[in-house]
Amino acid sequence: MAISPSAQNEDTSSIKTASAIDPVVVPKGQHPMTFSDISENALSVLRRLNSKGYDAYLVGGCIRDKLMGKTPKDFDIATNATPEQIKACFRNCRLIGRRFRLAHIVFGKDIIEVATFRGHHADLENNDAENKVKVKARSGKQVEDVLAKQDQQGQLLRDNVFGTIDEDAERRDFTFNAMYFSAKDQSIIDFAHGLRSIQNKRVELIGDPATRFREDPVRMIRAVRFAAKLGMSIPDELATQFKELGHLLGNIPPARLFEEVLKLFISGSGVKTFQLLHQHGLFGHLFPQFAPLLVDDKCREMQLVMQVLKNTDERINNEQRVTPAFLYAAFLWYPVEERAQTIINESGITYHDAFNIAMGEVLHRQIQRIMIPKRFSIAIREIWQLQTRLPKRFGRRAFQTLSHARFRAAYDFLLIRGQIEGGDLMELGEWWTEFQEVSPEERKTMLNVLRKEAGPARKRKPRPKKKAN
Ligand code: ATP
Ligand code: MG
Repeated sequence: MAISPSAQNEDTSSIKTASAIDPVVVPKGQHPMTFSDISENALSVLRRLNSKGYDAYLVGGCIRDKLMGKTPKDFDIATNATPEQIKACFRNCRLIGRRFRLAHIVFGKDIIEVATFRGHHADLENNDAENKVKVKARSGKQVEDVLAKQDQQGQLLRDNVFGTIDEDAERRDFTFNAMYFSAKDQSIIDFAHGLRSIQNKRVELIGDPATRFREDPVRMIRAVRFAAKLGMSIPDELATQFKELGHLLGNIPPARLFEEVLKLFISGSGVKTFQLLHQHGLFGHLFPQFAPLLVDDKCREMQLVMQVLKNTDERINNEQRVTPAFLYAAFLWYPVEERAQTIINESGITYHDAFNIAMGEVLHRQIQRIMIPKRFSIAIREIWQLQTRLPKRFGRRAFQTLSHARFRAAYDFLLIRGQIEGGDLMELGEWWTEFQEVSPEERKTMLNVLRKEAGPARKRKPRPKKKAN
């Protein structure tokens, strides 16, 4: 359904950045969002908050996606209730976050995020400032709590000053993310000309780009993510700031970046997102060991990342499972290979030892930038280690490798490497494809052929007999 023109702002001429909050109400029936688009759980949270006398709205991605003809998936709620008041409304509520406190209402696996309207930080005009307040601690004592805090670069380290819905809209990142849906009258309030940005297919930031990116550098990669996902353009005034301020991504806590980077590549638009990140010079701030190897569009590193992301996008769009471990294993594979070679050249140790050291070093450097949870870093190492085991197939080795929990991911990765590098790697991939498909008898035959091709087996030296004491 088209959005009713009467509800839109008439001037669609060249708006650069929406700096003013100028709410436009789109009444029920003049926009496509209805209750049937909203999950039962989200609706029940909205209704409960309303019934307790609070204002509550759906906000952000779910409305934007619906207005763009996509199916909304996760439902975020904004309210004038404080975190403690939200908690008092729900038994299944937990409060989370220090930098940005919010409530999670938990329905089994489904979690509805509820945020209190954010306000302005009037006395935070200067960088490196704090805004404190006395609060009552659990013990009953009065303690000081930091509500808002900014570092020297202007980055907001705390953002817990509460405000009105207008202020909340102004504190959001992009104009298309500042639209609110009310369950009371089913209207949408478009605070910052988000509809216009959707119509013009431009990613428009609310406020001054430099200030907003300094406050939270993650907004730069969010801009790229939305441009790729929504097929929008990035205005020059944002792109210029990426070059100026991209390095500030180095100040973001690695744990937060892990979540945001997942959304970049596990979204179904990974190829496009990567291309934009690379084009705008942001990829190197996330993967400083890999980006320098991407020297041109034809190099093997570029082919690898494109192939891996193409496969990942296809899997996501076919609703197949993907693991972040595979992506990280691929992005860091050539840095590991290169580092292992340098170690060998410098110290002359064996490939096996050099490879082990290189894996540790490359992972260690990467987690300074993006935290990788242990369960994934273990899997990444296994995928890498299996690359060195896949060529070794004699005796029981092929069967041991085949039964390894990480075989499938390692084999998929080998196929991609084979596609790019060809030669022996491609043949090895084909061998493993056949080995999985044939009968147990034929597997034995394949191994015998391999043995013959390798020439006569080396005789093992007899082990020295243990001396009897
Ligand atoms: P997605 O479809 O990927 O979930 P989303 O817009 O819902 O997109 P979320 O990360 O779920 O993205 O954030 C929900 C909303 O919170 C956003 O729409 C935006 O209004 C606000 N928001 C999120 N991150 C920021 C940020 N860094 N700065 C300002 N506002 C933000
Ligand atoms: Mg969301």
